[in-house]
Amino acid sequence: MSTGFLWHEKYMWHDTGSGATPDVEPDEHFENADTKRRMKNLLDLSGLTDQLVRLDPRMATEDELRRFHTDDYINSIRELSDHLGGMAGPGTPFGKGSYEIAKLAAGGTIVATEAVLSGQVNNSYALVRPPGHHAERDLGRGFCIFGNVALAAMHARDIWQIERIATIDWDVHHGNGTQQAFYDDPNVLTISIHQDGLFPKDSGTVEERGANNGQNYNINIPLPAGSGHGAYSTAIERVVVPAVQSFRPQLILVPCGFDASVYDPLGRMLLTSESYRELTKMLLALANATCDGKIVFSHEGGYSKRYVPFCGLATIEALSGIRTEITDQAGRDDLPGQELAPHQEAIINEIAQSLP
Ligand SMILES: [Zn+2]
Repeated sequence: MSTGFLWHEKYMWHDTGSGATPDVEPDEHFENADTKRRMKNLLDLSGLTDQLVRLDPRMATEDELRRFHTDDYINSIRELSDHLGGMAGPGTPFGKGSYEIAKLAAGGTIVATEAVLSGQVNNSYALVRPPGHHAERDLGRGFCIFGNVALAAMHARDIWQIERIATIDWDVHHGNGTQQAFYDDPNVLTISIHQDGLFPKDSGTVEERGANNGQNYNINIPLPAGSGHGAYSTAIERVVVPAVQSFRPQLILVPCGFDASVYDPLGRMLLTSESYRELTKMLLALANATCDGKIVFSHEGGYSKRYVPFCGLATIEALSGIRTEITDQAGRDDLPGQELAPHQEAIINEIAQSLP
């Protein structure tokens, strides 16, 4: 078994500035290079990077971006980036040169996907930046410029003739961009597990189930704030597994955020690195049962500088089946709130019962 790992130094050069508003003393933007660089550093230090298959990104072409994004949007990002940078959308600043870096992120997720489809590796992890799952057709959002996973799915379909793809997004925020890309499409099953009502506002409700031919091919699992491992593992068992099994995908893509961790400043969930290890094993088992283990993770959010590295290490250890000697100093076995609570189970069961 082999796991591909994709990374590029330039992902760290995407400059989101100070996050300042007229009322707030300048500080780093939440989405800055540190969490991801520290994750890469821990992977290196643990010895894991050396045991993975190195994958190198390329930039997505403009034709590839146009599979999802509008000409006007692509042109506006390029023009701003060629000068001093600007805003891709609300809360989504970028500096000079980020157009090329965002194309490298989209292209990176494409490369990680092709490595799995070609059989070069069994599964893969793309540690890309900027993230992608909030990016809409004609608007950046939530620190995302281009829809990395949506574009990889479209590429797999157009170039590799993959007919059915499932996306399973466990970033703590709703994967609105991926949902938008395939809302009418019965050949891409989009699933998002996220904190109820968090971001984007009024997005990610249970009622959003797809439209036209895509009806029932979008599933949102909005969990209440304060959900821990019990709620997440039950949501996967009772909703994700049966939905994906009956869909029979040929490929699974995972928009993978670590902002559902207990230490994250932008989410209010309780997952630990051990949760991510166990949840990854569940998705891997699902991929083995449905699509020959073909699963690709693409990095999304996660804003705890201290904890994202451990969550990322545990996830890639589970993907590769390699256990390093690093232990998670911040993880606690006795964290409260990990058991499935009745109000969490109620929403999970409601969604499970609504599956066709
Ligand atoms: Zn997020």
